[in-house]
Amino acid sequence: MGGVETLLFVGFICGLWFFIVLGKRFLRRELIKEERILDAQVSLKKKSEVKLKFLKDKKRCIEKKLIDVSKIYTVTKDMSFNVRLESLFNALNEFMRDNFRFRKFILATLKDKTDADEIEKVYVLEDKVNVQDNLGERYRVAFDFVLRSKAPLLAEKNSDLSKRLGMNETPGDFLAIPLSIGQEILAVVFVEEARKENYEDFLILASQIALQIRKLDLFEKVERLSLIDGLTGAFLRRHFLELANEEIERSKTYRMNLSILLVDVDYFKKQNDRFGHLVGDAVLKAMTELIKKNVREIDLVSRYGGEEFCIMLPETKKENARVIGERIRHAIENHDIEAYDETTRITVSIGVSSYPADGRTSDDLIEKADIALYHAKHEGRNQVRLAG
Ligand code: GH3
Ligand code: MG
Ligand code: MG
Repeated sequence: MGGVETLLFVGFICGLWFFIVLGKRFLRRELIKEERILDAQVSLKKKSEVKLKFLKDKKRCIEKKLIDVSKIYTVTKDMSFNVRLESLFNALNEFMRDNFRFRKFILATLKDKTDADEIEKVYVLEDKVNVQDNLGERYRVAFDFVLRSKAPLLAEKNSDLSKRLGMNETPGDFLAIPLSIGQEILAVVFVEEARKENYEDFLILASQIALQIRKLDLFEKVERLSLIDGLTGAFLRRHFLELANEEIERSKTYRMNLSILLVDVDYFKKQNDRFGHLVGDAVLKAMTELIKKNVREIDLVSRYGGEEFCIMLPETKKENARVIGERIRHAIENHDIEAYDETTRITVSIGVSSYPADGRTSDDLIEKADIALYHAKHEGRNQVRLAG
């Protein structure tokens, strides 16, 4: 091999070596690049998987919430059919048992919603529904606490708060929620051994119960307005007649006597002229109280007209009705009525009629009592006269 050929050979070998080195480097770089891309893709995939799992969990959570809210909506609808709080609470019972885990659920309604600390009724849901007049001492601290703060509280088990509330013996979280509309607290809910995951559901439910309580309050108010005279608290005529007719039917069925007293204030116009209408109103109020004090719980006292009262005495014969009439007359005659710095006394005249002797319908009986009352007036007032 000549010099030139050797040089060419060496050149070729060097070129080859150079080419191999460069090629290797190039391949390594490509490989690293590829690896990086692959790594990035793997990490992106992992991230996507994590994200997907997170979204799936979130979706499940939202779906559960949606189901819970729609269940609460359903129970609210069920509750709204009830016109008494006790039956409303019964409707709630089944729903609570099926959907929430807790040991005891208590609803304490307040008597005077503006000066909220006197308890009206306590509805306890444990194994069954229980209605009580008092809230146990055990809940007193939590009760005062939420009334003052007007905000719900969650005392986790063994926490300082649960100790301060005296609830540390409860083997679970304790919830207390004031039910309010605006600034007005209507009731307080306590949940023993509640689950934290139900916390929000209990809050939603509590707000729904608050609305229902407000609705029932209004319903009761309207009902009261249509049944009871606002001034005296006696039944209004229309409602009295409904109840009286039922009593007459009952007397017919069981062959019992029944009597009616028609009571009219003597010279009431003069009272009004002398003391004014405001005192006159107070007189009517005081008089109703005196009448109620002198009859039984089962007797029906109604304001039949302006200063005229009609009383139904079930299971009472005429002679006994006369005794009761005399008792009322005497009590009113001897009672000092004090109103607006004035002291006055009134007398009443009373007409008495009885079933079955004087009539078999409320119209007949009232008409006969009215005639007897007319005689009482004409014979000098302040007396009791019997029909017939
Ligand atoms: P007597 O029954 O003894 O014959 O005389 P009286 O003056 O009571 O009779 P009358 O039935 O003529 O008058 C009844 C009065 O009662 C007239 C009315 O101004 C008054 N009155 C009716 N309703 C109310 C009320 O809600 N408040 C007041 N203050 N007065 C009333
Ligand atoms: Mg009169
Ligand atoms: Mg009159």
